[in-house]
Amino acid sequence: MKPRIVVLGSSNTDMIVNVPRIPRPGETVLGGQFLMAAGGKGANQAVAAARVGGNVTFIARVGDDMFGRRAIEAFQKEGIHVDFVLRDADRPSGVALIFVAADGQNSIAVSPGANARLTRLDVRRAASVLDGASALLMQLETPLDTVVAAAELAAARHVPVILNPAPARSLPRSLLRRVGLLTPNQAEASALSGVEVRDTHSAARAAGKLQARGVGTVIITLGAKGAFVADGKGQQLVTGFKVRAVDTTAAGDVFNGALAVALAEGKPLLEAVRFANAAAALSVTRLGAQPSAPTRAEVERFLKTHSPIAG
Ligand code: ADP
Repeated sequence: MKPRIVVLGSSNTDMIVNVPRIPRPGETVLGGQFLMAAGGKGANQAVAAARVGGNVTFIARVGDDMFGRRAIEAFQKEGIHVDFVLRDADRPSGVALIFVAADGQNSIAVSPGANARLTRLDVRRAASVLDGASALLMQLETPLDTVVAAAELAAARHVPVILNPAPARSLPRSLLRRVGLLTPNQAEASALSGVEVRDTHSAARAAGKLQARGVGTVIITLGAKGAFVADGKGQQLVTGFKVRAVDTTAAGDVFNGALAVALAEGKPLLEAVRFANAAAALSVTRLGAQPSAPTRAEVERFLKTHSPIAG
């Protein structure tokens, strides 16, 4: 049976314009291709988890507009339960306006819209979905007190809480105590711990600091290098896979969605991280956020045919 995963977080529509260079204030730049794609860290992680075999319920808010309706339809196509994807009558759906320059630099403005109105009350109303769930997976693109409330409800039901602290912000100890697994990337780990993470050595120090604040297990994703894992038993780098990277957008989201499913299936921690590294590596070989998330069959085939880079 598929493990039940609850994902709480943001849903956005990404509007991406390729430009020769990022426009300066007051400047109009004639751009190239335009792409509209489903995004938002919460939605990306929900889709990634569903594709690799999770039975996913998504808790989110979208606007009562075209973007919100399209997002809900897309979730349903992925088999995601949308009973708690609420439609906000007063706020538009979240959008991200993204410029991607020819040299790969980007510039992004996000209007959170309905995402900013996901409340504690919404979470309390959805509490029954946590009963018997294998994991609650969250990020920080929705209000912090909503995330805290959800972590409390999950902890009371002994549901493991996975927090991807993105974008980074300071986190109360009361939240960190309830987080079983924290999954910052390099920049987020640096911001949260105060230790500049550059390599495994500094990752170990940063992870130690975060564990001292009450988090059980810390996994710091290190891009192409893989992920550094620190739990009560020890610390080690789980090396990533060598691929030809085309677009690293949402690599972290795919990593988190896949990790949640692998752990919920009962895979040992290091094996689950290897699975997540493989899913995320596959995603960087493809364009876009949600379109790049691989299926279970693709991840399993990849794992049979590829070995991690030497550590
Ligand atoms: P984020 O996308 O949140 O910034 P990272 O860049 O650390 O996070 O990437 C998350 C995970 O995606 C990594 O731990 C790794 O498994 C995978 N990954 C990212 N970039 C690459 C790459 N160039 N090659 C292979 N795997 C990658």
